[in-house]
Amino acid sequence: MPPVLKRHLAPQTGTGFLVREGQLLRITDPQGEQVSDLISFARDDSREWLSSGRTIDYANTIYLTTGHTLYSNRSRPMWTIVEDAVGRHDFLLTPCSPETFTIIYGTTGHHPSCFENLAKNLAPFGIAPDVIPTTFNVFMNVVVTPSGELQILPPRSKAGDHLLLRAEMDMIVGVTACSAELSNNGSFKPIDVELLDAPPEPPARGDLRSAHAASAPM
Ligand SMILES: [Zn+2]
Repeated sequence: MPPVLKRHLAPQTGTGFLVREGQLLRITDPQGEQVSDLISFARDDSREWLSSGRTIDYANTIYLTTGHTLYSNRSRPMWTIVEDAVGRHDFLLTPCSPETFTIIYGTTGHHPSCFENLAKNLAPFGIAPDVIPTTFNVFMNVVVTPSGELQILPPRSKAGDHLLLRAEMDMIVGVTACSAELSNNGSFKPIDVELLDAPPEPPARGDLRSAHAASAPM
């Protein structure tokens, strides 16, 4: 089935779009070692948003992968991870912002950031910058040492690796190709985003039987 939406995100950019319950979102790292920040809000009430805290509470792990559910701040399922070619993503760190580069990197002057790219692309959907929470950082490789220190390591994603998520409600969604040097092993690369309609449900057994009975000679 061809995707209903297909976007190639240039390095250090983002996008915003709507999804319906049941649709599948595929995020692909076409060149490898690139992070993509994902955030979403309920379409009928944007005060409901993807929650790192709720998700980690219920999964009881910081390393989310195939089979895990990503929850909203109202503890409703927003996404299910259906396929995961990489097995390492981060849900602890906020999207990189102008201040991230000032405070951590000591950058002077403007530096592109996921936060700005999400704010810009979610504004048309009525999402204000101040309500953008911790993002699900696809392919970001963060390790917690025994002392509690966080280490940001190069992503484990290789060229063509992807993450596939099923939407569990109608949502407003933002996705980026991350702008931070630390997250992406010192370089910036593109991200590919595809939205697919849900595969058709196989007919229920009762339907099959009645269809057969109807076509059988009397
Ligand atoms: Zn970023």
